[in-house]
Amino acid sequence: MTFSVRSLRIRLALLYAVFMLTSMICLGIFTYWYFSSVLASSREQTMVKREERLIAFVNTWPKHDTSPTLAEKLHQLSVAIAESDTIQVYDLHGNLLYSSPGPDIYKVDWPGGTCVHPCAAVVQKAGHTIRTLNHVVTLDGQQVRLSIAGTTDEHSDVVRLIRNSYLISCPLLLFASVAGGFLLSHRALKPVHRITSEARTIGIQDLKHRLPVPKTGDELQVLAETWNDLLARLEAAVRRLTQFTSDISHDLRTTVTVMRTTAEFALRRNRTEDDYREALSTIAMECHTTSRLLDDLLAAARADIIQRNIEWEPVDLSEISLEVCEHLRANAETKHQTLRSHLCRNAWTRGDISMLRRLLNILLDNAIKYTPEAGTIFVDLEKAGDRFELSVGDTGIGIPPDALSRIFDRFYRVDESRNQDDGSSGLGLAIAKWIVEAHNATIRVTSSVGVGTTFTVSIPEQSHVFSSELPKLKAVTI
Ligand code: ADP
Repeated sequence: MTFSVRSLRIRLALLYAVFMLTSMICLGIFTYWYFSSVLASSREQTMVKREERLIAFVNTWPKHDTSPTLAEKLHQLSVAIAESDTIQVYDLHGNLLYSSPGPDIYKVDWPGGTCVHPCAAVVQKAGHTIRTLNHVVTLDGQQVRLSIAGTTDEHSDVVRLIRNSYLISCPLLLFASVAGGFLLSHRALKPVHRITSEARTIGIQDLKHRLPVPKTGDELQVLAETWNDLLARLEAAVRRLTQFTSDISHDLRTTVTVMRTTAEFALRRNRTEDDYREALSTIAMECHTTSRLLDDLLAAARADIIQRNIEWEPVDLSEISLEVCEHLRANAETKHQTLRSHLCRNAWTRGDISMLRRLLNILLDNAIKYTPEAGTIFVDLEKAGDRFELSVGDTGIGIPPDALSRIFDRFYRVDESRNQDDGSSGLGLAIAKWIVEAHNATIRVTSSVGVGTTFTVSIPEQSHVFSSELPKLKAVTI
């Protein structure tokens, strides 16, 4: 186990120590102040009560008993209660009338001033702290200066004891809290270490591996689950990529093998012109298939980086729909199919014109391909709220319900047997979907086997920038 000052564990422990130290200092200062003031105040209260008792004792002396002097009465009281405080009484000229027995050290001079109300004072004398209460009062009918004094040494001792015990326990507590903080953070961060060391073992070949998820219900569990989700997505992406590569290799190898064997077979001996013609036409067909496959692959590769490279420009969907219909009309005619289109005009949006043309090309080409002779193909473009809906439908062979969710996957073909050998790669709809997503559009499909299929692309309108004309419906029948 290595420790670095930057380690989260050390930083947490240090942070915890700083927090504890600050709290302890604050608590110590508060406790010290609180006890000092509470003890001082209770000492003062005691003196006030003592003074009240003394006044009551002297002034309630029986009237008929006139023999004892004021000093004698005070002395009786001092002896009777034997309290630690000393009592001194002066007349208003400062002459001492009475001083209770006790050590001289606690006897302090009258502080000066009138002290009509009780004056409390603290005096330092020979290393002792003396608290005094001075008051001008009436005793036995005469005004005198009454001074009660006593040491607060006991209270100071209590406060000192509290302070010392604090000074001793503080470092111990601090040490315990740092050690506790370190151990706690070590324990709390253990799952992070487990996750880190597991993550280090995962390589591109080992994406099936998952990180351990601590069932703590905290952020660490969320972190581990998020990493596992990421790994699952990575695994799926790598699987698709591997599949993609092997599919390409397979398709390319097949066509190249057909071309090579055809050529080798034709060259093995002298053949008639017809034989050569047949061999060359087979090779030409395979070349056509290969070039279509390469076209699709190129488009697929472009589609992957489409978001970055798309050339945004105003596009009139009705215009490109018309263009693509014209372009593919010959294909439909070859199969004696009817191609109908209902296109609203000025269907302005923003996008990459060549991409959108390719999208429509894929949908219309499929419609023609997967519709038997004399079927009907239709292309509709209409406005729906702030979007345009471009539909390409046919009365063709349809798509089985269980295949509908997969037709947009790369290289997926519903049923190899029903696909003619026409260079179809199974990439068309995957490319169509990328184009749609890159244009913030959506694509949906409805299909019924033996009845037909309709693909509908919904794309946002951008007419306010390019045209203010309202869309009009125009029917073209080819
Ligand atoms: P392909 O190059 O094979 O046409 P696509 O990705 O364009 O590949 O289409 C995937 C599969 O979806 C096709 O192989 C086909 O089986 C099915 N498909 C696509 N369009 C239609 C359609 N209009 N009618 C029936 N099936 C279709």
